[in-house]
Amino acid sequence: MSEQIISPDLNFVKEVIASGGESLKKCYQCSTCTVVCGMTPDKTPFPRKEMLYAQWGMKDKLVSNPDIWLCHQCSDCTAFCPRGAKPGEVLGAIRKMTIKKYSKPTALGSMVSEPKSAILLFAIPTIIFLIFVMIQGHFTEGVPRGEGGIISFSKFMPPIPYIDFLFIPLASLVVLSFVLGIKEYWSDMSKSCGKAKGGDINKSIIDTIVEILSHKRFKECNVTKDRKISHLLVFYSFIGLAITTSIAVFYLYFLKWESPYPQTNIIKIIGNISGIALLIGISMIVSNRIKNKDKAGMGSYFDWLFIVIVYGVGATGMFAQIFRLLDIAIIAYPMYFAHLVFIFALFAYAPFSKMAHMVYRTTAMVFAKHIGRDKIA
Ligand code: SF4
Ligand code: SF4
Repeated sequence: MSEQIISPDLNFVKEVIASGGESLKKCYQCSTCTVVCGMTPDKTPFPRKEMLYAQWGMKDKLVSNPDIWLCHQCSDCTAFCPRGAKPGEVLGAIRKMTIKKYSKPTALGSMVSEPKSAILLFAIPTIIFLIFVMIQGHFTEGVPRGEGGIISFSKFMPPIPYIDFLFIPLASLVVLSFVLGIKEYWSDMSKSCGKAKGGDINKSIIDTIVEILSHKRFKECNVTKDRKISHLLVFYSFIGLAITTSIAVFYLYFLKWESPYPQTNIIKIIGNISGIALLIGISMIVSNRIKNKDKAGMGSYFDWLFIVIVYGVGATGMFAQIFRLLDIAIIAYPMYFAHLVFIFALFAYAPFSKMAHMVYRTTAMVFAKHIGRDKIA
């Protein structure tokens, strides 16, 4: 029998513990978690083996492992674990470390995952937008009103040049970071699972998209069943807000039409429905976390930073609009300013925050389907 030498990476163990997997050492390998998990394939199932890898500090076996993303953190395993080792939370901590490893530049990843940098994360966009406000002379000359004397956010922060000057290069960097991360992650998964052979990659991509759109995987959850509706609301509200942004770009660049748009215009209808869905969905996520905290845990700083940013985007956007319509400039402009800060945080930190789970989970699901590993067909 051949011998396998294991060199535990103790720093990795410490990092998993610090990232929210503090219960890791309680695991005594009984396999209850693997038995109750509805997502795991029968062959080399998870999450017991991941608990062992994590205890042994086998970093390479974990961060390039597609299984950690097939887990949807339903918390069934955490609820049934007889030792309170919280395997669902440990896998969540490992996913966070995967995001940190693959998202470039890694220094920014470390910054986003550290609670001590939280103030800096919001200070950066605040300073940028304050400079834009000062350049335009709003502090000394006030903000010009729009047509008919109404409050106009386009006059406060004109899309051309300020918003586009900032967000177009930012969006390009975010896409580049994700492309580099996906490429490296796919290559590492291929090395650790063996090169994917034979599968139809287009079919794997289409099946993954269909599965994500229907949130079929969430049906397997028992302990946190109500996650499906809240997650669907947030997911589709993001799609709605992306459509709204695309229409705004079309209006601005092709029709030369700046906001504010009438409340009856399609852009406002989709935007408002999406904004309300976002606030309801994220409130449900928070309420479910509190309700299930004994069984599933409250989540880590990483989870809560994302929740705060999404809440911030939705709430400031909604309040900015309400106070604009009420013509209360003294609240409407600061609210819109805060909205821009939260939007910046959502986009700029996307490759390093929980937002990145959409990208890495999708990649792992495509890979797993491609190699015939995924249980959910
Ligand atoms: S995490 Fe809990 S249920 Fe899973 S193997 Fe360890 S002790 Fe058993
Ligand atoms: S959290 Fe749910 S999906 Fe993830 S390993 Fe545990 S039981 Fe399986």
